[in-house]
Amino acid sequence: MINEKMRMLGAKRSAIRELFEYGLKRKREIGEEKVFDFSLGNPSVPAPVELGEGMRELLSEVDPILLFGYTSAQGDAGVRAALADYISRLHSFRCDKDELYITVGAAAALTCSLHAVVSPGEEVVLLSPYFPEYKVFVEGCGGVVREVACDSESFHPDIDALSSAINERTAAVIINSPNNPTGAVYSAWEISEIGALLEKKSSEAGKPIYLISDEPYRELAYDGVTVPFIPKYYRNTIVCYSFSKSLSIPGERIGYVFVPGSVSQSKQVYEAICGAGRTLGYVCAPSLMQRALPLCLGLTADVSIYDRNRRLLCERLTSLGFSVVKPEGAFYLFLKSPIPDAVAFCESAKRHELLLVPSDSFGCGGYVRISYCVKTEMIERAMPAFSALAADFGLV
Ligand code: PLP
Repeated sequence: MINEKMRMLGAKRSAIRELFEYGLKRKREIGEEKVFDFSLGNPSVPAPVELGEGMRELLSEVDPILLFGYTSAQGDAGVRAALADYISRLHSFRCDKDELYITVGAAAALTCSLHAVVSPGEEVVLLSPYFPEYKVFVEGCGGVVREVACDSESFHPDIDALSSAINERTAAVIINSPNNPTGAVYSAWEISEIGALLEKKSSEAGKPIYLISDEPYRELAYDGVTVPFIPKYYRNTIVCYSFSKSLSIPGERIGYVFVPGSVSQSKQVYEAICGAGRTLGYVCAPSLMQRALPLCLGLTADVSIYDRNRRLLCERLTSLGFSVVKPEGAFYLFLKSPIPDAVAFCESAKRHELLLVPSDSFGCGGYVRISYCVKTEMIERAMPAFSALAADFGLV
């Protein structure tokens, strides 16, 4: 019998993907340059040249049987050693190769981690607004989502609300900073507050409550804002990292889970992650990409372009009368819908060929997400459309 839950997930695209597909259709109908697609977080800046050069070298110098063959399920030991050394140096925090599990991007890092530490019926706290796939991932491992709203002005965590949401059924809390969709970057002080709260709640519950830190945007922080390294603030942190955005390689699917030695029963948690990887059929992360990683640790795509886009959009949209949450990181702008119904607002935007994502699928109404990892010239070209949209709603 067909699994109805899976069928529904496949049949109903995410709101973001739906809009992206609509954009492709519109581009075919009226021409690429007439559609202003701010839907997906698909980087527009090329990967660092060193990555391509390194891959060419690997292709010409490494035995293809090795290069294209299976690696250990948790990732090639040499690659993990290089990664562990880099993480230890970068964050001045001990990381051993046997605490790293290389994954098919952040999505696999998250699903493996959730399957590892959440038993069916246990709750996982999500800070709303949140990346919509979290809900799919949590429910996919039999967990129950508990949403906690962030502060309604700053979109930073509301510690009191978080405290009220945690109970004896809580297995884990997911945080994502720099944040998709708000651009918020949590400060060291906020992380230490969350850490202290989870420490207290864990001892009350008599079991660890894990903090799963989803970090695909770690390198994308602006105006000198720093992104704290979470395991320094809470011992039961599991880090889920991805190279998708920092290296501009989202289709290549590479990331990792780091289970620090400080995590209670860290070896068993790591084993459970390996077990989850088997259950989910990941086998191993792509071998060529794994081997390319040591060649580009510390490199990023030119993220200054995103900063330029961020400034440009904030300045122009504010001058048109829109109200925005100034992003501190990632590459999304959270704009307040001038009407309470953000879905209706986005439908109006579509009439000007502007593709904006309503915040409803992020677990919060009344806003739209503008993905600004696009070409700057598209932002410039989209301005008359934004201006017409602002006029529709009496803002200018
Ligand atoms: N987490 C967040 C917050 C994201 O925005 C994304 C992708 O956009 C992911 C996880 C998935 O990342 P990856 O493509 O590395 O699986």
